[in-house]
Amino acid sequence: MVTVEERYEHLEKTIRGYNISADFSLILSAYEYAREHHGAQMRRDGTPYITHPLQVAQIVAEMRLDSESIIAALLHDCIEDTNSTYEDIAKRFGVTVADIVDGVTKLTRVKYSTMEEEQMENLRKMLFAMSRDIRVILIKIADRLHNMRTMEYQTPAKQKKKAFETMEIYAPIAHRLGMQKVKWELEDLSLKYLDPVAYADINQKLEAASAEHDQFMSAVQSELTARLTELGIPNATVYGRVKHPYSIYRKMYAQEKTMEEVYDLFAFRVLVDSVADCYNVLGVVHDLYKPILGRFKDYIATPKPNMYQSLHTTVIGEDGIPFEVQIRTYDMHAIAEYGVAAHWKYKQGLRGERGERTYEWIRRLLENQEDADAEDFIHSLKIDMFSDEVFVFTPRGDVINLPAGATPIDFAYSIHSVIGNTMVGAKVNGRMVGFDYQLHNGDVVEISTSKAAHGPSRDWMKTAKSSEARSKIRQWFKRERKEENIAQGRSSFESELKRSGLTISQVTAPDALPNILKRVGFQTLDEMYAAIGYGGYTSLKAVNRIRDELLQLSRAAAVEKAAQEAAAAREVQEGKAPLPQKSKSEKGLIVEGLSNCLVKFSKCCTPVPGDPIVGFITRGYGVSVHRKDCPNADPDRRTAADQGRWIKVTWSDDVYEAYSTALEVVCKDRSNLLVDISTALSSCKVSVTSLNSHCTADGFAIFHLVISVTDSKQLEQVMRKLHNISSVMKVNRPAG
Ligand code: MN
Repeated sequence: MVTVEERYEHLEKTIRGYNISADFSLILSAYEYAREHHGAQMRRDGTPYITHPLQVAQIVAEMRLDSESIIAALLHDCIEDTNSTYEDIAKRFGVTVADIVDGVTKLTRVKYSTMEEEQMENLRKMLFAMSRDIRVILIKIADRLHNMRTMEYQTPAKQKKKAFETMEIYAPIAHRLGMQKVKWELEDLSLKYLDPVAYADINQKLEAASAEHDQFMSAVQSELTARLTELGIPNATVYGRVKHPYSIYRKMYAQEKTMEEVYDLFAFRVLVDSVADCYNVLGVVHDLYKPILGRFKDYIATPKPNMYQSLHTTVIGEDGIPFEVQIRTYDMHAIAEYGVAAHWKYKQGLRGERGERTYEWIRRLLENQEDADAEDFIHSLKIDMFSDEVFVFTPRGDVINLPAGATPIDFAYSIHSVIGNTMVGAKVNGRMVGFDYQLHNGDVVEISTSKAAHGPSRDWMKTAKSSEARSKIRQWFKRERKEENIAQGRSSFESELKRSGLTISQVTAPDALPNILKRVGFQTLDEMYAAIGYGGYTSLKAVNRIRDELLQLSRAAAVEKAAQEAAAAREVQEGKAPLPQKSKSEKGLIVEGLSNCLVKFSKCCTPVPGDPIVGFITRGYGVSVHRKDCPNADPDRRTAADQGRWIKVTWSDDVYEAYSTALEVVCKDRSNLLVDISTALSSCKVSVTSLNSHCTADGFAIFHLVISVTDSKQLEQVMRKLHNISSVMKVNRPAG
């Protein structure tokens, strides 16, 4: 039984092996801190809990990571499982270490068991969105590896669940990060619990044949080594291995073969110093053994997206046994084994290379991975670094995917509209925040709700980034605040109506309302007000539509009326109907066949009683009266469509009103002309409504008068008097 102290010594020795300048005193105090905080906690296998962080640190050391990684690995379960805090760790071991531990803790809180495929995808994306410090993922992988190694002490249910997660999430991530060795071990350990029968079968057969396998491998190994030495290729290492159980399992499964039938069971590796030597070795291998066509792959010239470089070829040995040979340099091999970890190790020695830029290539690597090396993927991992998304956790560890810039409001509504509607407060990573707080990747968001909550405020619609949240907020206002919406919508609508010069009585008029409601698409006006109130409709849109509708209605009514009247008039003319009583309009006119109709005198010819006149039924403005000699009333200019609208109009006998009419007086300009005109008009006892004059360039003066007269006789008298004024040349009644 290995003691905890022996394990720690072994860890220190491993670190010394690659990093003599590691901060050993801080590593020791991290170990002591973790041991103290985990106290009497025990693992299921009966060892003290501290064994686990120690072993995780051991794996991290085997990845050759830096002091901070080792320290974080030792402390990785402290925040989750002990009374230690982020602040305490930051104070003792620095903010970087605390951030890494915090990151690992967040990943630990992720719940996978209930995850749909969509959630898996979110999770993988999020893991990398959090790769601002890749060490978080590396430690999490080491943690998972140790847990899988000690999984036999767990319940069968937990074994299956963890094995599934490992196969779905961690092994693919290890592959992405180029960590072949870790990936293989994770896959084999998962297979052991996912398909125990097949796993046992493969292992048993490998075991049974192991002597035979060893013999074959050492024969090839010595043959190759001897040949390389002979040819003077320096510093070459050759070794063989049987492929790992999961790789065999997959081949059996995919090719529906027994293990004996699986094509190549063996893989040999030749490690050399230089790229040139790699190609030399390839020549030697192809010289010694018969290559299988189409199995050569040059990953040195074209590296895999996860940085992997090697030459691959499959050949057939003496007994007809096929085997694969991988040829690469020692540097390439380090990358192949440790992937990102190896790269990270190289980078960290260089000053100024750390931080964001160091991880740029990881992001790129992950972006380019799609469809690469499809054979190696069971499930393709589409990990894109979506800059327009943010991934956060629920307190239970579920991952929620929100648009970038999302706030606690978006989060709450993405959980459930009830959560959003009863939200009274929000905490991010345990700290109270405002509702406009912008969420970051990996934040743990907690929403406080209350039954007494007032519900969302209208400002939330502006604060929310997701359309989902906005539409749920709108829904709420629609449903919960109907009275308030109606009141608010009505006042908004009425002020808009006023602005456009319409009145509410025009809208509510019984013959207009049904058409208006149909036009705006609501059952009642209250419904329309409510929609305006909660923002689903605007009062401007409503008023515009109503104005259009009212205009159309008035036109339709006028045409209808005109058509009826014209038909009636024709019937009278043709003697089919009794002559209707002549009736008198307020303006001293008799419009044939119509009573009490609206009458106006046309502005173009300003008729006065005594003038021969004719009427025209306008669209919506009653009957317009013209002089018969007005060009606008000329029978030759009437259109066929309007023919029915011309109607006989006569002056009634008892004229008492004054009628406005226009006159035009053309004179040779002279002084006192205006005085003479005024005198003439007053002598006729007519009042002048307006008088304009202008002089022409060739010495004429033209007066435009509007006067009030009782009839055409008085008008003739006025015109005569004006004509008699010296230098007046013409007095006209303008028309047309
Ligand atoms: Mn752990």
